[in-house]
Amino acid sequence: MAEFETIVVVGAGVVGLSTVLCIQQYLKPSQSVLLVARDFPSDTSVNYASPWAGAHYRPVPGSSPQALREAKQAQRTYEFFKILAVNEPAAGIIFLKGVEHLEAPPPEYLDSQSAHNVYSHLDEFRYLSDDEVPAGVKWGVEYGTYVVNSPVYCAHMLRKFILKGGTTKRYTLAHLKEAFSLDTNVKTVINCSGLGFDDPKSFIIRGQTCLVRNPVSATITRQNTDGSWSFCIPRPLDGGTIIGGTKQPHNWDPNASPETRAQLLAKASKWFPFASESGGQFDVIHDIVGRRPAREGGMRIEVEKLENEKQIVHAYGAGGRGFELSHGVAEDTVALMLENGLLKEKAVL
Ligand SMILES: Cc1cc2nc3c(=O)[nH]c(=O)nc-3n(C[C@H](O)[C@H](O)[C@H](O)COP(=O)(O)OP(=O)(O)OC[C@H]3O[C@@H](n4cnc5c(N)ncnc54)[C@H](O)[C@@H]3O)c2cc1C
Repeated sequence: MAEFETIVVVGAGVVGLSTVLCIQQYLKPSQSVLLVARDFPSDTSVNYASPWAGAHYRPVPGSSPQALREAKQAQRTYEFFKILAVNEPAAGIIFLKGVEHLEAPPPEYLDSQSAHNVYSHLDEFRYLSDDEVPAGVKWGVEYGTYVVNSPVYCAHMLRKFILKGGTTKRYTLAHLKEAFSLDTNVKTVINCSGLGFDDPKSFIIRGQTCLVRNPVSATITRQNTDGSWSFCIPRPLDGGTIIGGTKQPHNWDPNASPETRAQLLAKASKWFPFASESGGQFDVIHDIVGRRPAREGGMRIEVEKLENEKQIVHAYGAGGRGFELSHGVAEDTVALMLENGLLKEKAVL
């Protein structure tokens, strides 16, 4: 009889939660999954990125290996979320119109091949003509996309994981190898810790946004000529609207800046179609500051073999795209585990 084995997954953000659900479909009868994390859904720490995400899907054109890999992961997540939005409304995902208005489009947006790579799979994708875009906008598109109520989606996944027999442990690891000692027979550890452990390529990108009660019916992104980006993201299930946002690499300030809030809201009232009865005023719920776990060259998704047949499977460094890549990343991680014989080949669904 096969020896009983526990697979430890470190990290209960959107990447870890998507990964445990995917792993559960391929468990051998002798395997179980333990989800270990410092933070779980409902916790609010500036270092736990997932609850702070907008979160919408906005493709990122490019031709680097990272851009091409992410485009595939994003596309698979888009298809997966389409099904989830219909079958599991409590997941907090809805599909709606996405609009982009760019004042100074970077070259990759103007290159038809790199734009095609990331936009062509979207429902109802089309370029906006000059007379359809606001003054000052040089490049505009619209398409069908999704928005996610990020804390609701993470809590939903955690609930599913536990209902399917998964177990959890709140624990802060000082070193990733500690994870091998958190149950009796742990040979495989999956590292979904966001920033990884002492990876010199990892860095944070600070994001400040503002959650308001004012509703809006589409997710709209505007790139301003000064290099800043403005966006509005309605959160499903009456979760308000996220107004954003900043992207500040290596900025460790955990406090929300009142000046930044004022700038974000001023631009939002100028660019986005909030109801006229609000008179340009916002009903603010709270400011948000979070740290996106980024990595030079993109996510690390690879197997690291250790002594005594132990293995670590890394899956971290999603930066500002953890939700839109989540299901694709989980599938890629499970594919690596299957290749290395760490899971059962045939899914038990
Ligand atoms: C303001 C803002 C807006 C964003 N908007 C979007 C968006 O619109 N679309 C989108 O796709 N993404 C967006 N993101 C990015 C998204 O939030 C991240 O990419 C995603 O949350 C990363 O998920 P993760 O699971 O890798 O990391 P995290 O959510 O940070 O989770 C890491 C997990 O690892 C655990 N952990 C870490 N170290 C240890 C340790 N030593 N011991 C034990 N546990 C540990 C943590 O406790 C946590 O459970 C946004 C982010 C911010 C901040």
